[in-house]
Amino acid sequence: MRSNQVINLNCGVKLPIFGFGTFAYQIDPNAIESAVHMAIKMGYRHFDTATIYGSEGAVGKALNDEFLNYRTLGREDIFLTSKVWGSDHHDPVSALKTTLRNMGMEYLDMYLVHWPFKLKPWACYPVPKESDFEETLDLESTWKGMEKCLELGLCRCIGVSNFSTKKLDSLLQFATIPPAVNQVEMHPMWRQKKLREYCEERKIHVSAYSPLGGPGNAWGSTAVIENPIIKSIALKHNATPPQVALQWGLLKGSSVIVKSFNEDRLRENFGALDLKLDDQDCLEIEKLEEKKIMRGEYFVNDTTSPYKTIQDLWDGEI
Ligand code: NAP
Repeated sequence: MRSNQVINLNCGVKLPIFGFGTFAYQIDPNAIESAVHMAIKMGYRHFDTATIYGSEGAVGKALNDEFLNYRTLGREDIFLTSKVWGSDHHDPVSALKTTLRNMGMEYLDMYLVHWPFKLKPWACYPVPKESDFEETLDLESTWKGMEKCLELGLCRCIGVSNFSTKKLDSLLQFATIPPAVNQVEMHPMWRQKKLREYCEERKIHVSAYSPLGGPGNAWGSTAVIENPIIKSIALKHNATPPQVALQWGLLKGSSVIVKSFNEDRLRENFGALDLKLDDQDCLEIEKLEEKKIMRGEYFVNDTTSPYKTIQDLWDGEI
């Protein structure tokens, strides 16, 4: 079995670099459970979920099966991430306690602020309506709640997701505990150079979601894995385009979180750990036209959202 190397986070915790994503448009708990079992056999040790994905229960059940019934692993061998949705920014502690109940876990390794917007407490669905937005982000009180989660031992690290450098700047003004991670879209066609440099200086780890560009997702694209340059690099190394995309993310110092519930593709993706890209490959990837795939249109409106435009949401970093 390949080893899933680790990165040291600023909070002293080790994060396995190769993560298993669990977002799917239609949730089939059996498919998730069986994929988690397959992934564990192959060497995946980092599992990413979120309240809004509806996958917390199935991930927790499969992992607990591994701990209790198969006894292949202990809880300490797994890194578990979940995320607080906008409707729970009022009370991250209660939200995390619900997540832990859903998952049958005593603690998470990482708890992230999923998106930088706050919703009315009832709006726990993926596409908010216009009337669901709180007009201000009120990040300071949300972050205090996140820090409380840590203090109570409900999680080992806290972080954010979909934050621009500007939002990180404002968070760092008042944070007693800085975020350990910013989980963002990142792949060869959305390289996040500015954000990576900013985070590196401040010891915030950038974790790459949709590292293949989310092919198969309603909002996703095959632009990355069908890109002719990515395909030619794959051919040169006797590898596959997804392996090239994943290894590129790892080479940039990021962890990657890739979703597949299919045994062959899970194995193929994990094989990215064996691929070595050379300088020429990296130079060619740097030249690719950039294309942000997850733009967040659903979180923008010109009446109630704090973000009137897509540019506002990403603070111009799009
Ligand atoms: P992704 O991992 O880039 O792509 C997943 C899609 O690609 C699935 O449809 C999967 O289908 C397919 N796929 C996987 N491996 C493949 C391969 N080798 N060849 C061809 N197709 C392949 O995109 P993602 O699911 O959007 O992102 C990964 C994870 O990141 C999510 O599951 C979630 O945990 C996290 N995420 C976080 C955020 C956030 O806001 N923080 C946003 C998006 C995603 P099969 O299952 O059929 O293989």
